[in-house]
Amino acid sequence: MLPLRQVLRAAPRLSGPASTQRGLATLSEEHRMLQKTCRDFADSVLAPAAARIDKAHEFPAAAVTQMGELGLMGIDAPEEYGGAGLDTMSYAVAMEELSRGCAATGTIMSAHNSLYLGPLKYHATPEQLKQWMQPFTDGKLVGCFGLSEPGNGSDAGAASTTATLKGDRWVLNGTKAWITNSWESSAAIVFATTDKAKKHRGISAFIVPMPTQGFSLGKKEDKLGIRATSTANLIFEDCEIPKENLLGKEGDGFKIAMRTLDNGRIGIAGQGVGIAQAAIDCAIDYASKRTAFGSPILKMQTIQSKLADMELRTESARLLMYKAAMLKDEGKNFTKMAAMSKLAASEAATFCAHQCIQILGGMGYVSDMPAERLYRDARITEIYEGTSEIQKLVITGNMIKEYGL
Ligand SMILES: Cc1cc2nc3c(=O)[nH]c(=O)nc-3n(C[C@H](O)[C@H](O)[C@H](O)COP(=O)(O)OP(=O)(O)OC[C@H]3O[C@@H](n4cnc5c(N)ncnc54)[C@H](O)[C@@H]3O)c2cc1C
Repeated sequence: MLPLRQVLRAAPRLSGPASTQRGLATLSEEHRMLQKTCRDFADSVLAPAAARIDKAHEFPAAAVTQMGELGLMGIDAPEEYGGAGLDTMSYAVAMEELSRGCAATGTIMSAHNSLYLGPLKYHATPEQLKQWMQPFTDGKLVGCFGLSEPGNGSDAGAASTTATLKGDRWVLNGTKAWITNSWESSAAIVFATTDKAKKHRGISAFIVPMPTQGFSLGKKEDKLGIRATSTANLIFEDCEIPKENLLGKEGDGFKIAMRTLDNGRIGIAGQGVGIAQAAIDCAIDYASKRTAFGSPILKMQTIQSKLADMELRTESARLLMYKAAMLKDEGKNFTKMAAMSKLAASEAATFCAHQCIQILGGMGYVSDMPAERLYRDARITEIYEGTSEIQKLVITGNMIKEYGL
């Protein structure tokens, strides 16, 4: 398979501004080619291994290396620093296709691209980019993002992890919880309070090398879904890092975290749409082969009604995701649309996986078929990068602004 940059160079160029070419409902020729490359990779490499790595809780190291070779582990990172330099639409499309093959691998890709490389892309100095982005774009090194804490997840502004400047070192103390990719990572973006009195305005972001003295990992969490990913605490006990590892300005951490999550939600929308699509694919295939009362169940009105509902929700979520990605690529405000696309996609994923189990009957309930894994994997899209309740707060917060209230 060719790296994505070469695939796109081979695509016929279209004239006119990107949004006109793409419209809201369709993808450009370039994005279709990228979609096909990712789909082929997901079908040939990810999907065949998904059930096994889920059962074994195994990080798909070889697949991640291949994703690095394709350009997927730095998909929207600048080319100057080793990335593929593609747009957000490419990222969303890739996340959908990969997650359709294996949602856990989608999580690994999204945590690395959105949560680790993302804040570096927008806030790191050229020196930091050289040191902390460049070696992390080819799939050999992975990064993670430490915002949540045992005592606060949704309320990220209440961070209790502290960072104190002592001479030319920051000293970190505290615990970050639920961190994706933590066991495989070589660096983390960590948020800590540098001035408690200023509350969320006193939070700063840091680049922490892993491993480093005073830093340790908690146990791997035993999870409901996305079991091939590692999730663990990052524990800081007088952990010293160089002064120059501050990311952005002191006190900018909360803004950096919120911007990162806005971007990341488009990736999770892609993951949700991918899981929903996998459930539709599985249900259609089964329903066309399974007969009951003398005919394929696909011909039954109740099954068709379920499939229609699944398709409606999935396509609606996909269009919202395209719109969010398009707004971001055009430099427009995309916060509300990113939240809406994540919410719609997570609901579509959970709904479609649920219906898929029902369409498969008994076979939906056992791990010989992907339906039960999709159902377990879908659930996380309603929790991380902001729960569904938090997405609704983001949506209405933006509506209130739009109405000038
Ligand atoms: C598998 C997994 C991977 C994760 N990966 C990462 C990672 O890489 N990095 C990272 O930093 N974090 C990560 N997280 C953490 C995740 O982002 C948080 O779990 C999530 O934000 C929710 O926080 P919480 O668990 O503390 O729940 P809480 O914030 O305690 O929420 C509990 C419930 O209360 C609701 N609630 C809270 N506040 C409000 C409100 N204001 N209005 C309405 N309802 C509200 C929530 O919606 C939820 O239903 C991960 C979590 C999991 C499970």
